Amino acid sequence: MSKFHVNKEVCIGCGTCISTCPECFEFDEEGKSQVKTEETECNCDAHEIIDDCPVRAISLEG
Ligand code: SF4
Repeated sequence: MSKFHVNKEVCIGCGTCISTCPECFEFDEEGKSQVKTEETECNCDAHEIIDDCPVRAISLEG
């Protein structure tokens, strides 16, 4: 699975990444996206996820 990083300083909580890939992302207590900590099987397209974020808050780690 791709390992994402969300810049919470930039995220506006639009929810696009979460609805596209709920296996990788979830809302935190402030309504922003965070990467789920548990390893999950995920077939999402990392570049699509990154490109679809309106504020470019998502990057790939590693
Ligand atoms: S798509 Fe971007 S702005 Fe929207 S919730 Fe995900 S990280 Fe935040």
